Amino acid sequence: MNSHGAAPLIVRERGQREVFCGLTGIVWLHRKIQDAFFLVVGSRTCAHLLQSAAGVMIFAEPRFATAIIDERDLAGLADVHESLNEVVDQLLARRPNLRTLFLVGSCPSEVIKLDLDRAAERLGQRHGPGLRVLNYSGSGIETTFTEGEDRALTALVPAMPSLSAVGEAPDFLIVGALADVVEDQFRRLFAGLGIERVAFFPGNRSDALPAMGPDTRIVLAQPFLSATLKALEDRGGRHLPAPFPLGAEGTTAWLAAIAEEAGVAPARFEAVTAAGRARAQKAMTRSRETLAGRKVFFFPDSQLELPLARFLSEELGMQLTEVGTPYVHRAIIDPELDRLPADLRVVEGQDVDAQLARVRAVQPDLTVCGLGLANPLEAEGLRTKWAIELVFTPIQGYEQAGDLAELFARPLRRKARLEALA
Ligand code: SF4
Repeated sequence: MNSHGAAPLIVRERGQREVFCGLTGIVWLHRKIQDAFFLVVGSRTCAHLLQSAAGVMIFAEPRFATAIIDERDLAGLADVHESLNEVVDQLLARRPNLRTLFLVGSCPSEVIKLDLDRAAERLGQRHGPGLRVLNYSGSGIETTFTEGEDRALTALVPAMPSLSAVGEAPDFLIVGALADVVEDQFRRLFAGLGIERVAFFPGNRSDALPAMGPDTRIVLAQPFLSATLKALEDRGGRHLPAPFPLGAEGTTAWLAAIAEEAGVAPARFEAVTAAGRARAQKAMTRSRETLAGRKVFFFPDSQLELPLARFLSEELGMQLTEVGTPYVHRAIIDPELDRLPADLRVVEGQDVDAQLARVRAVQPDLTVCGLGLANPLEAEGLRTKWAIELVFTPIQGYEQAGDLAELFARPLRRKARLEALA
């Protein structure tokens, strides 16, 4: 618990929202699951969103595309299912090694009430059993930003084999797409702790999913996966609540929850984690000098806001003004809330105009927000950090703590340099 002995109160707000849709998740999921392809059934707007969100990140042929629903389809003149067959045929001719195809719904596909369940079933029969066809919605009507990953992973859960089919299940299932480099670091730490039976979901291969057993503990590596958690619990796993692995202390607390559940001796835990923890502390030194005592304000965007607020206040000495977040799932986020100041204003949901009025009144040193708000706020003289970068960049674990802190320190240093030049 925090020093005040109580968690912050949560205020709920409803109004106009200013967030990305769930299609954005494809940008990091397609890099992670290397035998899967994401086919958005959408409009040119959806294609542009994906291209611009992914534009800076693409280093190889992407494993996503948009099947464009054109105006004839919207008017009901053409058979979208027929066009989809053709697109998928062409795709598979080029990419015969794909094992999972995600059909991703969008606002246009919802508006014309395209039945993607049926389309996935039909395409699965046409191309199975070598190709599994799943579907989920990434539309802006149904999802915000990181909810796309939650929907995609939820769709993947039924594809997990049964325990009787494979004969064994992991003791710990780490849930949430992590960069490969982060996954490798965690694997080494688990091996050092003597925790061998660990699986990551999603992993690089969608055709080698783990089973869930009654003793499998579900450990979230990302806070925005409530539907996935529920689906995994329905398969028999049990949630292990923990803070999220951000920074030196967050990573240590996350690992400690797992180690305690596994019965690892405290001395061994200390021996295995001490060096990484010290490296992380050291790597954050310069950023801490820049950030300590500075005020930060979070607009709701990725659902990472509360873990990041904990990191910035507890590990870098920043002063939290308001932390907005799209949703608060208490079962998932309580370990973070318990570490936040009791007098913090936490706002669930969004009424963007009211929030803009508050940020102007507070005049924070740094505002974490979506791309749409960043430019206008910068024009008003506020320094901003794009929330999207925090999801696209590897930030979890000891070795990333310095980079994570730098993401927040850099805009303030830039401001100081500009002022020095003026
Ligand atoms: S799914 Fe909707 S919100 Fe997202 S890019 Fe397409 S049209 Fe826009």
